[in-house]
Order: sequence, then structure tokens, then C-alpha cells
Amino acid sequence: MAGQDEAWLISTGRAAMTLALEAMKLTARDPRRVEVAIPGYTCYSVPAAVERAGLIPRLCDIDPGSLSIDLTSLGKIDFSRVLGIVSANLYGLPNALPDIEAMAREHGVFMLDDAAQALGASMLGRAVGGYGDVGLFSFDKGKNITSLQGGALVASAGSLADSIHSASAALPAASMVRTMTTILKLPAYSLLLRPALYGIIRRLPIGLGLTPYETDYPIEQFSWALAGVVSRQLERLEQIGAGRVRNAERLSAVLDGLVGLQPVRILPGASPVYPRFPVLAAPADRDELVSSLDAAGIGATASYPSALIEVPEVARRLPHDQAPTPGACQVARRIVTLPTHAYCPPGYEVTIRNIAVQVLA
Ligand SMILES: *Cc1c(COP(=O)(O)O)cnc(C)c1O
Repeated sequence: MAGQDEAWLISTGRAAMTLALEAMKLTARDPRRVEVAIPGYTCYSVPAAVERAGLIPRLCDIDPGSLSIDLTSLGKIDFSRVLGIVSANLYGLPNALPDIEAMAREHGVFMLDDAAQALGASMLGRAVGGYGDVGLFSFDKGKNITSLQGGALVASAGSLADSIHSASAALPAASMVRTMTTILKLPAYSLLLRPALYGIIRRLPIGLGLTPYETDYPIEQFSWALAGVVSRQLERLEQIGAGRVRNAERLSAVLDGLVGLQPVRILPGASPVYPRFPVLAAPADRDELVSSLDAAGIGATASYPSALIEVPEVARRLPHDQAPTPGACQVARRIVTLPTHAYCPPGYEVTIRNIAVQVLA
């Protein structure tokens, strides 16, 4: 999978990330390497997995133009305390993966290519998730394909893979109750994806659209029943991806050049997959834009509400010499993500454009 030799299915992406980081610790055998370099704006499950693995997050800034890791900020880190670097590839947009991989090699640290949102994307012809030492995929809500929960790791053969293999084989079996609950939720979830319902449902207290920081998740094997759901969708991955890319291209065409909206730059060599389509608005317009789109039945979101440096659970664990991450803070205040899934009605991009023109006027 993703050009790597071996793959493991784990209960969730965050559980898989915890396992991968613990395997890095065992393989490196260097007690000074207690930090993991992670992007300043990414899913809160990433710093949570770092904490769960008994490690310390070291934030590096992101470039607001491309949402990729800012290489200057990454280069300034003291790598003597770093165990590994984690990419983000948010919204299926490939980060500067060849540069991040080169920097990891140069400093003798691991790289985890987080493709939780980027299954099917590639960079210079190589699958995202296939860069670095280990790749991560998620089948949670809102990912490219979903069984509501699930994760996978890929790695090339070697001592890190051996360590992941032993840890994965020793995991407890999937909880029957959790698996059944998830299976029962699946039909309801596919209904909720319809944008008109999504806006309403997002306000109900069922956890959809929320961004919690939690570290007490189960770390188990993936259930065979859910793996069946994933494998049926994997067969249609190209088709699902092509539909999302088509919607993203339509959005890009109508929103391009609109005063007050800034498109996110796609890096040279990148083929994105767009589980969502991100754009940047001025902080003063952002919330009104999201609520106006929501009111019109378009499931727009402001994505993760804060840069990690502003999340209290993360902030209290940062190293004392953590540098500021202004790029990540800017993105948190400006980003709007738009839906690209198969239920988006024909012409929805024009509705979005008209609303944007009104709000930004
Ligand atoms: C969703 C996500 C994860 C965690 O995956 P789960 O399956 O939800 O635990 C990790 N990284 C990124 C970038 C994600 O979007």
C-alpha cells in the first residue's frame, strides 16, 4: 500500500499514530529524543497521540499560502531532541514531502507521513503516505473513505516495521460493542452527508464536527466487519477521488479572483484529492461567511478552531523554548472549508460564489 512493503490495520488513526511513535521510540533507543515535530495547524488527534506515546510536541510553523510545513521554521528546530517529524497533508493537499523527507534524513530522525486526509493523493508520482519511514491513513468521519472509525499504517521492511508488527500483533481484539455501535451508525452518517442536513445535524450534540483533544482512546485491532466496509470503498477510491477533484475544480474556477478570498496554492508536482476544499478569507469576514453558507444549506466549516499553540491541552505540554507559529495562527482565523462529496448538488459552486460575493462586498 502507498508503495510501502507492509501495512497494518488499527482501530483508529490516532491509535495507529500512537503505535507508530512508540515503535520509533523503541527503534531509536535514544532517551534524549523525546520530541515530535508536528505542524502548528493540524488535527488535534496528532498532539494527543504524541502525548499518549509519552512524547512532547514541538510545533513548527506552516506556510499560510500552501498550508505546508514552513521549511525555514522546521530547519530552526534543535533536532538533537527530536524523534520524528509528522506531515499533515490537510484537505488532501500534499505538503512539501520531498523536502521534509530530505530534512528528516539529514538530521537522522524518523518521518511519519500523515495521510489521514490524503488517501489517493500523490506528490511527484509517489503516493502521499508513502514518504518517510511510516505512513498513516484514517477511515474516520469526514475522511476520503470512511467506516466511521479506523486507521492504517504502512512502512518499508526494516527494524521500525518489525517493531510496529510486534506491537500490532499484541493489540487486544476490537471491542464488540464499539464495532456494533459503529455499524449501526453507518447508514445514518451517509444520510447526514447531504449538505442540507449536515448544517442542522452539526448543531446537535452527537460529536460530529467537534474537535476534541482526547488521549484516552482505545488502541485495538481493527474489526473485520469495518475492514469489509473500507475495502468495498477502496475499490471505488479512484471514482470517489475523481468526483471530489471535479467539484474542487468547479469551486476553484468560480472563486478564483474573487476579492477577499485567497485560494490555497498547490505545490509543484502535487496531485491533491480534496476531501474538503479550503480557501482563506479575511478574519473579519470568515465567521459570517461560514454562517451564511451554513444557512443556505452548504456544509461549510471553519475547520480546526485554533492553531495548536492556542489549544490549552497542547500549550501546557510545549517545550519552554517553543517558537511562535504566526502562520498557523493566521490560518486558524482565516480558513473556510467547503464540501466536495458526491451529494453536492449540481451548481452548488455558483450558490457558494453568490453568497461569498454578498458577504465580502
Ligand atoms: C483524522 C486525522 C487523524 C486521526 O485519525 P482518527 O482516525 O480520527 O483517529 C490524524 N491526522 C490527521 C491530519 C487527521 O485529519
